Amino acid sequence: MQHKSYTIEEVSQIVNAKGFISSADAIIRNISFDSRKLVDVASTLFFALKGRRDGHDFISEVYEAGVRNFVISSEASIPKRSRDANFLLVADTTIALQDLTAAHRQQFNYPVIGITGSNGKTIVKEWLYQLLAPEKNIVRSPKSYNSQIGVPLSVWSMTEEHTLAIFEAGVSKRGEMIALERIIKPTVGILTNIGEAHNEGFGSRAEKIEEKLELFKDVDLFIYSPKYLEGYNKPIPGKQQFTWAWNAPADLKITDEEVLEDKYLFLRGYFHEKDVQCVVPFIDAASVENAICCWATMLALGYLSVDADKRLEKLQPVKMRLELKNGINNCSIIDDSYSADISSLAIALDFLKQQNQHIRRTVILSDILEAGVDSEDLYEQIAQLLTSKGVERLIGVGREISQYADKFKQDTAFFDSTNALLCHLDDLKLFNETILLKGARSFEFERVSKMLTHKVHETVLEINLNALENNLNYYKSQLKSGVKLMVMVKAFSYGSGSFEIANLLQFNKVDYLAVAYADEGVTLRKAGITLPIMVMNPDVLGFDVMVEHRLEPEIYSFRVLRDFVNVLKLKGVDNYPVHIKLDTGMHRLGFMFSDISALVEELSNCPYLKVISAFSHLVASEDAASDDFTRKQLADFSEMTGQLEQALQYSFIKHIANTSGISRHSEAQMDMVRLGIGLYGFDSSHKDKKPLLETVTVLKTSISQIKELKAGDSVGYNRKGILPRDGKIATVKIGYADGYSRKLGNGNGKMLVNGQQVPTIGNICMDMCMLDITGISASEGDEVIVFNEVVRVEDIARQLETIPYEVLTGISERVKRIYYYE
Ligand SMILES: *Cc1c(COP(=O)(O)O)cnc(C)c1O
Repeated sequence: MQHKSYTIEEVSQIVNAKGFISSADAIIRNISFDSRKLVDVASTLFFALKGRRDGHDFISEVYEAGVRNFVISSEASIPKRSRDANFLLVADTTIALQDLTAAHRQQFNYPVIGITGSNGKTIVKEWLYQLLAPEKNIVRSPKSYNSQIGVPLSVWSMTEEHTLAIFEAGVSKRGEMIALERIIKPTVGILTNIGEAHNEGFGSRAEKIEEKLELFKDVDLFIYSPKYLEGYNKPIPGKQQFTWAWNAPADLKITDEEVLEDKYLFLRGYFHEKDVQCVVPFIDAASVENAICCWATMLALGYLSVDADKRLEKLQPVKMRLELKNGINNCSIIDDSYSADISSLAIALDFLKQQNQHIRRTVILSDILEAGVDSEDLYEQIAQLLTSKGVERLIGVGREISQYADKFKQDTAFFDSTNALLCHLDDLKLFNETILLKGARSFEFERVSKMLTHKVHETVLEINLNALENNLNYYKSQLKSGVKLMVMVKAFSYGSGSFEIANLLQFNKVDYLAVAYADEGVTLRKAGITLPIMVMNPDVLGFDVMVEHRLEPEIYSFRVLRDFVNVLKLKGVDNYPVHIKLDTGMHRLGFMFSDISALVEELSNCPYLKVISAFSHLVASEDAASDDFTRKQLADFSEMTGQLEQALQYSFIKHIANTSGISRHSEAQMDMVRLGIGLYGFDSSHKDKKPLLETVTVLKTSISQIKELKAGDSVGYNRKGILPRDGKIATVKIGYADGYSRKLGNGNGKMLVNGQQVPTIGNICMDMCMLDITGISASEGDEVIVFNEVVRVEDIARQLETIPYEVLTGISERVKRIYYYE
């Protein structure tokens, strides 16, 4: 199953490049545009894309990693000593990527299903994969790779062995779909729905529909429900159409539904005047709609109604997200136990590679069930992938993977079945390592996950790492060129985690981290964080440890300076990097203006340390009323650092801006900025442009018990909550010891139960509290949202007369953190 290869000459012609070709026989099998995710560098073509970061800035790094083939749009970016590499110069690298993948698509004649819509694209794609896999060898978009660069990557994975392709396409503004259509060239089109999501980029609903329908302009068959196109008056695409609708004329007309056993839905309808029926294993409206879309597709493609019914009943939930949790024996568990195919394996392995908290990385992998693929080739590829991603141990589960045991270079153990693995789990001595669990559905790896992870106290803080990365990229895009980025990960990264967040930041190549105390820095070092780390509150007792772990102190007073110098003297260390803190108005820590000359004197005669940076902190960068004061701080800071640099006769990094400094005072960026709370999606200057930042943390709990009470009954300590009418309360597993303030009791706090806001009733207890859920349908065990993007941390903070910082950092450590990546 080798990928089709292209010579560099062929690529050059396809993308219409001016070539700087040194070895014309170079063979291209991989495409990449992310310097952090390279595999098989010898056959990789690197596209320097101009996204948030300019890919041209990474060419030297990628060259160092061994890549020798590049598509660029600026000749100036060619590194000096790179005469053995090929550079294809084009006007626009994104268009070149599209040209190449569009040409690749043209090599294949099998059907290609293209899916778009406002919601449900990924689910419908994954379900069609489940439904059609028995006959077809399917290539499909990994995860929800449906963007301007996700689509080219997906299409690039088409090979001659496949017999069907299913790709999703997503657009956020006008004009994007035409580019995606050119790459995918679908022969069958599916519209999943048209909702309100992502309306910003479009003038009207009709405009949005028109844009989406561009994907289907040349399809042979277009499958949709007419209600999605209400109000749209232009011609409907497709040589043929297949429609479905509830109780309205359509090729598939659905007439009846009935819930069975609380979890199945029985559907009845007419298909071309014949009775048809099916059962789907879901009852929520969104899943049912997606399932009907799949049903319609099967019928439109000519499947017999009875076969469709049999397969639909076995549909499995789609869980795209990959979770990072704490496991037994000090392990970290990456749980991706819902699918196993080679493209999603590659994504999961990249995530595994990011995690440096343990030296050892283990993968527990089931048979990869890709029909019609030569399994010898497949396992050969997997073996190469595992090696290139630094995996030390493989535990294979299944007959097929066991058969290819000798292909794997790492420590291995093999088991015929998941049961066999579970019986021998203790013998494997899983200890102090990061474990990726990756299994095809039928292997039920969730059973392995349960055994390996601590049972989670049911109040959890979920941290969305995609959102965090989005916010990070947003602030990066706000920086002027050359400005460095320090990220503040003090206080358990504002409550959201320690090395888990730091690993992601390190992977994303921020320049510096900062913590409040030395022990926070030590924890990061022990977890494999090699970035420079500044410690803001260094203590003489911790100086030794700091030097051992290369932690760089903030020097804010003569006392700290002298104490630190003494330790360096004793240890015989010279030129140790330190950060000088200047007080420009906060009046907390730092040297004042009047200290500068004495400071210069002490520093100039001191070989033991070197000023790597000098910084100050803005007092009210978020507050327009204080902008004059902010400008005064900036001016004083420039003056003070000017004097320091002149006297020391060397320059250092100067920095002053925190999150709102970045957003509101571009002149404050200087050499570096210190990003804090913005990373988690909070930036008070962003009220109106909220969509640029995403919500990172969601606090969830669950219902322990539900009670029906009578009017006048009291709830909780001191009878503070009195039910005004007959009603119903729910006791949930969060209290003030978890960080849910007592001030949120007695109706002040709101939570979401099954999507509806409900108030607290009575006083908040230490480990629990009660909600008035009168009139709401809920059962014991149901999930309850304490905060998310609807019940917002900002609103809770306002009620508590505090700021989001305090709410976030107040969530106690006994609340488990779960990290996920989609
Ligand atoms: C916490 C902190 C920051 C980050 O502030 P945010 O408002 O969270 O961005 C920056 N600098 C210093 C010195 C800090 O203590």
